[in-house]
Amino acid sequence: MLGDGLALAAQRNGDGRVRIGVSFHGTAEDWFETSGIPFDDPAAARARLIELLPGWDARILALIEACDDTVVPRSVSTLPIGLTWEPAPDVTLLGDAAHLMPPTGEGANMALLDGARLGLELAAHPDDFPTAVKAYEREMFERAGAAARMSARVQELLTAPDAARKMLAFFQPG
Ligand SMILES: Cc1cc2nc3c(=O)[nH]c(=O)nc-3n(C[C@H](O)[C@H](O)[C@H](O)COP(=O)(O)OP(=O)(O)OC[C@H]3O[C@@H](n4cnc5c(N)ncnc54)[C@H](O)[C@@H]3O)c2cc1C
Repeated sequence: MLGDGLALAAQRNGDGRVRIGVSFHGTAEDWFETSGIPFDDPAAARARLIELLPGWDARILALIEACDDTVVPRSVSTLPIGLTWEPAPDVTLLGDAAHLMPPTGEGANMALLDGARLGLELAAHPDDFPTAVKAYEREMFERAGAAARMSARVQELLTAPDAARKMLAFFQPG
């Protein structure tokens, strides 16, 4: 559900639980302290979250009311898009450590591909790790850079004031 600088996402996990994420966009860095959400008191934290979603449909707020777990604050951090570095012969980075991007659906896919690509390069150059690492990084920088640009675009859509309309347009054919 997308609102004005607000979003609520519900995702069924592998063990059958539904995890709810409520996002507040464009907030100040100290927002966790100033939001009035008592994170050490789950029931009061849920009540405050609901207060912070005025006018939202009761069927959506019921998702928060039904939560029986803790409320955990998380900020969205990213690495600069297109981050690269000089290859080192004995160390490299994979996954979020190499290309942390907004949580819009590419980070795990990229991390899995990173592992597969690095494994293939190491298998192709078993006696030459520096060459394997360099070849892995060349491909990864380009692929992860493109995914990070796409993630940033989707994140921009999700955090726009009229996010719901923009997202609807995004999914229209043609
Ligand atoms: C809300 C949300 C939704 C997302 N949705 C999607 C999605 O739909 N599709 C998608 O592709 N991606 C998604 N992502 C991104 C995805 O979760 C990450 O990109 C992915 O998990 C990165 O994998 P990783 O192995 O690089 O890092 P991580 O999964 O963070 O793994 C790093 C591991 O290292 C451990 N660790 C850290 N420090 C140490 C230490 N000092 N010693 C030992 N261990 C340590 C951590 O505990 C952790 O287990 C989402 C992310 C978020 C936050």
